[in-house]
Amino acid sequence: MICVPIVADNMKDALRDMESASKVADVIELRIDYISDVNLPQIMEKRTKPVIVTNRPVRERGKFSGSEEERLLLLKQAVQLQADYVDIEHDSMQGVKTSIGGLLTYSKTKIIVSYHNFKETPDNLLEIYNTLFQSGGDIVKIVTHANSITDNIKIYQLLQQSKTPTISFCMGEYGIISRILYKIFGSYLTFASLQKGKESAPGQINIEELLNRYHVKSQNKHTKVYGLIGNPVSHSISPVIHNTLFKEMGMNCVYVPFKVDEIDTFISEFKKLNILGYSVTIPHKESILHCLDDVDPIAGKIGAVNTVVNKNNRLVGYNTDLEAAITTLADVVNVSDPGLIGSYFKNKNVTIIGAGGVARTIAFGLKRYDSNITFVNRNTERMKSLAREVGCSFASMNNLQNLETDILINATPVGMYPLINETPIDANLLNSKMVVFDTIYNPAETKLIKDAKEKGCKTVGGLPMFVYQAAEQFRLWTDKTPPIDAIKTIAYANL
Ligand code: NAP
Repeated sequence: MICVPIVADNMKDALRDMESASKVADVIELRIDYISDVNLPQIMEKRTKPVIVTNRPVRERGKFSGSEEERLLLLKQAVQLQADYVDIEHDSMQGVKTSIGGLLTYSKTKIIVSYHNFKETPDNLLEIYNTLFQSGGDIVKIVTHANSITDNIKIYQLLQQSKTPTISFCMGEYGIISRILYKIFGSYLTFASLQKGKESAPGQINIEELLNRYHVKSQNKHTKVYGLIGNPVSHSISPVIHNTLFKEMGMNCVYVPFKVDEIDTFISEFKKLNILGYSVTIPHKESILHCLDDVDPIAGKIGAVNTVVNKNNRLVGYNTDLEAAITTLADVVNVSDPGLIGSYFKNKNVTIIGAGGVARTIAFGLKRYDSNITFVNRNTERMKSLAREVGCSFASMNNLQNLETDILINATPVGMYPLINETPIDANLLNSKMVVFDTIYNPAETKLIKDAKEKGCKTVGGLPMFVYQAAEQFRLWTDKTPPIDAIKTIAYANL
């Protein structure tokens, strides 16, 4: 079940929001502590969905600042009005039993006994659960703050052990996955805001996203989980791409963002959740290698993995960026026959701006075809070291105009959103014979690409590369080839 909290501060707006929320949510949480002119009978009369009545005091980061007696009186009224659930903070249970215990015996109202920890996810969750369970509620609610992605695993293990209906998840950015995967975790329900800006707790995502991006309604205990390892991950369009593909191809799978700081701990802890595949992005593409059971020879040679496949609990690393970049370049020069790609790139003079992960991957890819590669990079030591490793040349930025370049590749973030007016190379250094490939995909057309088009160059941005690497990733995970055009459409629509 998805529960939408109503956080309006007056009756008029609360009734309006409750009506909108009732169209999409299974349960409505009435945060009556937010409503300054609260009229509980009126709200209860207008409800069309089951409601949780919550009157959170200031000490629990709520807004009710009256006395405890006044607070409990409103909850008593909620029980009298046959609210479906009332939320009672665990340390108020004794007071509730004394003041409205008798009423509850004959009421259909279920008590949610709740514990909130806004600082951390403690280790003794089972102990907390037992205390809450014994206090006499019908449903236990344990909500904590995640300080790292692995805190979600504590919640998962708690839910696996709980014997009664339990609502549990982590707040904060690291805790988002416990909200999205609540059915797989085993939580009684999850919370989602009515829309952006109407959250009642940190990390709460909006219901539209929960339903349309993560297809929460069709998730169940058997849903296979995939995800993106990186930091940051919130801007990524990979979730929308893979989740749309899963839906369109009728697969019971979901793809979620994992914001990861410590790759070693993440990999070992998340084995408990049996994640079936990962995409890997900055800053873990290289550091993940030593956490894997096996690495594909090409990925091993490049020293970077962007895809992980779980094969019977063995994690195997691949690099789908390399072939994606080569296919992107081959497309722009109209070499569609794979047998002709090698001869096209042989002896071509390729200048790569950058010496990071992408520069390295593309260089290894082109080196197979004996292209003449030259790196140009801000950090000269890094550039020289990479040139030695790949077996190619390097040059200084000032020397760019003297380089003979057939193919120019930008493998730096210069020109990427939001600094879209920047470019890694002066437009005067471009000429019409060059093929220009900017690996940046946001914006789809960078300043470099615009300049190159004006000079009459053949050009391509980073989006096709992104699409090809995602498609191959999907194939490695599922053994199914997704439609490239569909991925392109999704990617363009979401940039
Ligand atoms: P990386 O490993 O962090 O390398 C970044 C490179 O860019 C380094 O060579 C760095 O130079 C250089 N650089 C960064 N900021 C710069 C600046 N202000 N001026 C000049 N040089 C600068 O990153 P990466 O993984 O290779 O990714 C590089 C870019 O590729 C990304 O920003 C993204 O736009 C693009 N990309 C595209 C795809 C795709 O599928 N199309 C996939 C991944 C990445 P120093 O060595 O001097 O620091």
